[in-house]
Amino acid sequence: MSEKKAPKARQGALYEVDSDKNTIKLKNRKCPRCGSIMAFHMNPVERWTCGSCAFTDFVKGKK
Ligand SMILES: [Zn+2]
Repeated sequence: MSEKKAPKARQGALYEVDSDKNTIKLKNRKCPRCGSIMAFHMNPVERWTCGSCAFTDFVKGKK
């Protein structure tokens, strides 16, 4: 086990908590181009966008 630095973020802002399964999913991910936290958008299409460099990654093949 290694120590993790927990980012000071409001709980629920970066993670999606599934109370039924008691699991936490990482909601946001880092931009592969600049390393900033990306935001997930549902409309008009599912995609991840970076606010810093405008990198966009479209979600495809949803299970
Ligand atoms: Zn970026």
